[in-house]
Amino acid sequence: MKIAVLPGDGIGPEIVQQAVRVLQHFASEGASLEMETAPIGGAGYDAAGDPLPEGTLKLAKQADAVLLGAVGGPKYDTLPRPVRPEQGLLRIRKELGLFTNLRPAMVYEELAGASSLRPELVAGLDIMILRELTGDIYFGEPRGRRTTASGEREGFDTMKYSESEIARIARVGFAIARKRSRKLCSVDKANVLDTSILWREVVNEVAKDFPDVELSHMYVDNAAMQLVRAPKQFDVIVTGNMFGDILSDEASMLTGSIGMLPSASLDSASKGLYEPIHGSAPDIAGKGVANPLATILSLSMMFRYSFNDNNTADRIERAVRQVLKDGKRTVDIAGPGQTAIGTLQMGDAVIAALAGGHR
Ligand code: NAD
Repeated sequence: MKIAVLPGDGIGPEIVQQAVRVLQHFASEGASLEMETAPIGGAGYDAAGDPLPEGTLKLAKQADAVLLGAVGGPKYDTLPRPVRPEQGLLRIRKELGLFTNLRPAMVYEELAGASSLRPELVAGLDIMILRELTGDIYFGEPRGRRTTASGEREGFDTMKYSESEIARIARVGFAIARKRSRKLCSVDKANVLDTSILWREVVNEVAKDFPDVELSHMYVDNAAMQLVRAPKQFDVIVTGNMFGDILSDEASMLTGSIGMLPSASLDSASKGLYEPIHGSAPDIAGKGVANPLATILSLSMMFRYSFNDNNTADRIERAVRQVLKDGKRTVDIAGPGQTAIGTLQMGDAVIAALAGGHR
């Protein structure tokens, strides 16, 4: 398996380094893994004047999976939009045809106290949010700014989904629900938006092929409320790009630590880009204190969804559980009275747990 490693900016290189050590551990056990590193985001701009340099895109296209750290930072905030770091991300998703974003929100027993909600509301939480990633108002044309007849500035974007775009994400949603508790909730705003009326219609059509999955629909404003009122009512949620952007961030906060959550973006052949959900954390970059667990858990998703290797995926998750059980905490998840360890030490702990655990 060839993995393109794109560390990016800020804490990206620090946390990706720990994930690479985990991969090297599997290679030392005999797994056939090849890794190649390339710049993206601000690092891409610095190296080649482009947040997604040609060589990086070529590598990502050739690879079986992509591991990404994070992009962005204050140094790049004043660049013109086409060369801003996040454009590198948007473009690589589009170029690789990554239309499904999988965002699990899980609460580890040991960390239930870190949530801003009462522990009993979130303990044992395990939600999977599927966000459509290549359509919707983020890509719809026309978009831009203009001056109205009365001389006022006006900004505009276009929300747009074709039925094939809706059907393919819906199918992934049903397929994943089938592997979990067979419950799928589709989130839209069909009381107001025409795009959402079509969304609901197409999801209902696709549902006919999955009679064993219980489908429900919810308006996005209600879903935002229900996620903080009674989040455990959800199992798999499928939604469009913009609603998914917001709801998946909301769901991640239920878990209490942004440093713990991985994500996967998949194409139609399950090739994927795997990355933590957090950003480049410029406030702690270079200090060696960032939590690498979200990135390491992204590897677990990589083995599960792209390499079809549930055993290795489970081993990584077990190792992470073990280090949390052993009381190992980085600064973001350390509770009162707990001493925080650094990025490297957390990597060491995961590798030790992998080496000591069952294969
Ligand atoms: P952020 O996620 O980088 O940081 C938010 C807070 O969480 C910070 O206090 C940070 O120190 C902390 N944090 C994040 N990850 C952590 C980790 N692994 N361990 C410990 N603490 C962690 O969000 P932000 O501050 O809004 O954005 C910073 C930069 O990252 C911006 O340039 C933004 O555009 C970019 N960004 C990139 C991505 C991405 O690459 N996918 C996502 C979001 C933001």
